[in-house]
Amino acid sequence: MFGRMTSDHEAQLRAVSLRVTRPRLAVLAALHENPHVDTDAVIALVRAEQPTISHQAVYDVLRALTQAGLVRRIQPAGATARYESRTGDNHHHVVCRSCGAIADVDCVVGHAPCLTAPDHHGFVVDEAEVVFWGTCPECATAHASQSSASPEGSR
Ligand SMILES: [Zn+2]
Ligand SMILES: [Zn+2]
Ligand SMILES: [Zn+2]
Repeated sequence: MFGRMTSDHEAQLRAVSLRVTRPRLAVLAALHENPHVDTDAVIALVRAEQPTISHQAVYDVLRALTQAGLVRRIQPAGATARYESRTGDNHHHVVCRSCGAIADVDCVVGHAPCLTAPDHHGFVVDEAEVVFWGTCPECATAHASQSSASPEGSR
């Protein structure tokens, strides 16, 4: 399975004319398994496999993959930049205000811009940035058990 995934990632790199390198494959694999992680998390994940890789090398790989469209960079307000390998479908994100957890929300339209501005002031609009904010199930459960002051707690 790992081998198949690696060859998928090799094909992805070749499709955008990027040379296949171990750091690039490692970053793609890390993001495939762990969507919406920040740079520090990507470095930790890649170093688990390639302990000698430098921070700068990971930054460079993230930049190259993002520019090539293989990786998408998202940055919800007040959060550090996160990276994911699910690209090209204009999906959106729901972000927990309490813990910062992020989940994917499919775009109903499937391509940008998914909203039509009532008045675009003559601008050619190519994207609507949509972020859903709320409380994730775990935080909602934690809040509920705190306020009910149950002696057993919720976990
Ligand atoms: Zn949460
Ligand atoms: Zn996503
Ligand atoms: Zn949308």
